[in-house]
Amino acid sequence: MKTLKRFVLVGAPASGKGTQSSFLSESYDLKPLSTGALLRAEVAAGSPLGLEAKKYMDAAMFVPDEVVNGIVSQWLGNNKDCGCLLDGYPRTVAQAQTLDENLAKLGLGVDIVVFLNVSQELIEARMLRRKACPVCGETTRNGEEVCPKCGAGMIVRSDDNPEAFAKRRKDYESLTLPVVEHYRAQGKVVQIDVTEEGEPEAVSARIAAAVAAYVG
Ligand code: AMP
Repeated sequence: MKTLKRFVLVGAPASGKGTQSSFLSESYDLKPLSTGALLRAEVAAGSPLGLEAKKYMDAAMFVPDEVVNGIVSQWLGNNKDCGCLLDGYPRTVAQAQTLDENLAKLGLGVDIVVFLNVSQELIEARMLRRKACPVCGETTRNGEEVCPKCGAGMIVRSDDNPEAFAKRRKDYESLTLPVVEHYRAQGKVVQIDVTEEGEPEAVSARIAAAVAAYVG
């Protein structure tokens, strides 16, 4: 039986990654790192990193690899002993290669990649109802005004408009899907296909079953 300590979660924008990240971290006792939430918190705090990242995020562009790689490698170094879940990283093959190298230096590696493969029709419908918490990073799918986790006022993300969304989708397909193939070649991908709207718990149950089958 494999011991799973380092999870990567890959999914398109609005695929439900945030919800399933919470499920995975609670179920497998993982410390989550969402690079998107971390970058949004830096933007909200007005830090130098946030000011730099905002230029890219507002233009619906990826923040440069070296910026994101730096944040993640520092975080991994501080968390090498705990189980962890990377959500929204790696997003390019170059980031995946850097991640593999950084983990190898610590004598570690990615153990499993959960690929949430949600159909484009579902994603487009969801994107229009999506809100984000600028304080804790929680995302919701039903236009909530108040964050269900921390009570802060929810916002529509500046990158959730049809043009920005189309750009993010294109980047996801051309830059992030190859990351799935990178890890599929290593035999580490568990793929969950979602084609119909349903309760997030049903997707979580399918993930749990797939992870259990992967562990063997
Ligand atoms: P997310 O919440 O994961 O959709 O991320 C929101 C935004 O943060 C993205 O559109 C990018 O601008 C930036 N971002 C998050 N993670 C990464 C990453 N791994 N590489 C580059 N940019 C990222």
